[in-house]
Amino acid sequence: MNRIAAALVLAAVAAIAWPAQSWSAPAEGFDRWLDDLRTEALARGVRPATLDEALAGVAPVTRVVELDRRQPEFTQTLWTYLGNAVTARRIERGRELLTRHGDLLAEVQVRFGVQPRFLVAFWGLETNFGEYTGSFPLVAALVTLAYDERRSAFFREQLLAALTLIDRGDVPVRVKASWAGAMGQPQFLPTTYRDFAVDFDGDGRRDLWKSLPDVFASAANYLDRSGWHGDRTWGREVRLPEGFDLDLSGLSVKKPLAEWQRLGVRRIDGRDLPRVAIDASLILPGGYAGPAFLVYANFRTTLVWNRSILYAVAVGHLADRLAGAGPLATPRPAKDAPLSRREVVEIQRRLATLGHDPGGADGVAGARTRQAIKDFQRRARLPADGFPSLGLLERLRATTEK
Ligand code: CA
Repeated sequence: MNRIAAALVLAAVAAIAWPAQSWSAPAEGFDRWLDDLRTEALARGVRPATLDEALAGVAPVTRVVELDRRQPEFTQTLWTYLGNAVTARRIERGRELLTRHGDLLAEVQVRFGVQPRFLVAFWGLETNFGEYTGSFPLVAALVTLAYDERRSAFFREQLLAALTLIDRGDVPVRVKASWAGAMGQPQFLPTTYRDFAVDFDGDGRRDLWKSLPDVFASAANYLDRSGWHGDRTWGREVRLPEGFDLDLSGLSVKKPLAEWQRLGVRRIDGRDLPRVAIDASLILPGGYAGPAFLVYANFRTTLVWNRSILYAVAVGHLADRLAGAGPLATPRPAKDAPLSRREVVEIQRRLATLGHDPGGADGVAGARTRQAIKDFQRRARLPADGFPSLGLLERLRATTEK
């Protein structure tokens, strides 16, 4: 076969293997793909009988692809996020559960070194303390995402891990999970489940749905092995001095607490920072008008669990509230409202008009957009927090429409 003919055959195979957007009626390429997956799972030691049962009649689920591709209409602000994640009801229920499961949580703490208030905070944010563990069939959801082109390599690995877990008897074959395959009360992805779940009640299975000893120990083991410090907290809300240099904010800047103290940063009640030799970063997740936090190593470990800064702040704040602390001291700014994608696009367009480079107008305020905002703010002599807000949009409108 000459080279052009070979290329045409390859192109034809590729076209069969990846039918365009035909999720309601999977083309014949799906069966071939599934055979190939089966071969790979067998090579990894999954038993044929397990594969027969798990893959029988499985087909891509249209809804899963829709959820994977959705673009939220509004971006969350710190306050809208905390308003959903750290509610009065959740704090109250979390405190009850902290007491009710106190002995078990203490036992887990001795073994893995994670404080009970944090374990209960993760549990509350993930599944409202085990209440919502997902409604999608695990294998079908992962088959869908592994077969879809968008993130096929990542989800193929998750699917193979899930089949291994089913084969071992850890996970029931017909189990329900989140649309992305997050499982059980701590919502572990299959590879996390495979690598970090613990059979703490000793019944031979790592059961993250029905065994609280397994749930708490698995979450604690994952955190411990991701670098958690059981003798430290996550961070704290702080007070900044007048004229503080906002370029010092962000996770890329790390300084010893003593250095932050020297720069005038204080606890929120005005007292000195703790005199301990640890590094911290200063973050402003709600912009300069919102609360400032000094965050420690456990905050970064929380980002291993979920890379969202707002999630990590919510876990820390909920843990504080479970331990009896009050709400954040900094009030919600008057102009705090979630920006729509359309408004973020407008911010990006107006920044570009002014000669800044927001990295395109896609409606998502990523690192380049934030840098472009900082550049604009500096030039306009505004506090350069790089934070997209309605106030910023108004200022941009005023500047570009002069
Ligand atoms: Ca168990």
